[in-house]
Amino acid sequence: MKVGNNFYTSAIFNCNYSCNDVCKFCFNAKNLNKGSEISLEDVKENYYYVKGKYNVKKIIISGGEPSLYSSFWEMMDFFYNQTEADVVPSLNTNSIKFSSKSEYKHLVELLKKSPKKKKQISISFSTVSSLKKPSQREKQKIAGVENTIKAGLKSMSRTLVVIIITKDNYKILPEIADFLINLNARYTAESDNNLCLQIRNPYFGKRGDSNWMDQKQINATLNSTFSEILPYLKQFLDKILKSEIRLSLNNIPLCALLPVMPLNKIKRISGNKESVERRLPIDYQSLFSRIKPRLYMGDNQYYPECKKCNLYKNCSKIQPAYLERGYIKNLTPIN
Ligand code: SF4
Repeated sequence: MKVGNNFYTSAIFNCNYSCNDVCKFCFNAKNLNKGSEISLEDVKENYYYVKGKYNVKKIIISGGEPSLYSSFWEMMDFFYNQTEADVVPSLNTNSIKFSSKSEYKHLVELLKKSPKKKKQISISFSTVSSLKKPSQREKQKIAGVENTIKAGLKSMSRTLVVIIITKDNYKILPEIADFLINLNARYTAESDNNLCLQIRNPYFGKRGDSNWMDQKQINATLNSTFSEILPYLKQFLDKILKSEIRLSLNNIPLCALLPVMPLNKIKRISGNKESVERRLPIDYQSLFSRIKPRLYMGDNQYYPECKKCNLYKNCSKIQPAYLERGYIKNLTPIN
């Protein structure tokens, strides 16, 4: 649907604000573990409203951590089994819940039973600082990620892993690549359904928004410059590009890879196609506070340099705050 100059196709359902993880970069941190849940009846009612009014094609189930929602499995059954065939459901999860065998089994059964041609499961895998010597908590997280990937690949769901680069994980990016390549090889063999992977810089939110991360959060999350992470990111990309995993970059300008990667390799990496996907219009926000419209990557910018660049259409660009901080010094059009 076109509203003003934008098309809107997705709705995000923030069904709760509880969470069992502590991501330093979370720009919802101020709201976490506060407030009550939306009821399942309201979830359904809001879905029918938004579907009727905006012809939404994708539902993003989020929070908080939605797997902690008290009617989680009923809500999952609703979105994966009872909504129209052309609506793609996507559970966004930190996957900790699915470290439990019984919860994992429930997830596989639900996803396998779902009649949807297109369904997605999106896993945030960002807050682990060691794969070789994980803490007890990290072990649980790693087990959850493995189980959720297994469930997604086996059930022919689009299985997306999102890695947000932070001070805590940038040095283990090559290890993370090995871990994911191994899982993809193991579980894709049964299903021919390759893992999708998105790697990105954290979002700051939009300046002036309640979503803007405060300075303390930014300092705890971000390295001082992008060049510090480049050697590790290069090793990560080299490994992933040799695998069958489908890769996209988000909030990382492709030209920022030029110091470490040859042009022909950069050209094989795309920005995130979804980055240009538009979300529900702002006026919707006032109707239901838990269903958040947002211009998904609306804060990533096109720059004058980009108009001269051959990768203009493939590049996700970057939020202006990164250039303002000198995190990335300049953009170089690629021809
Ligand atoms: S110049 Fe712009 S479009 Fe080209 S790679 Fe850099 S950020 Fe992307």
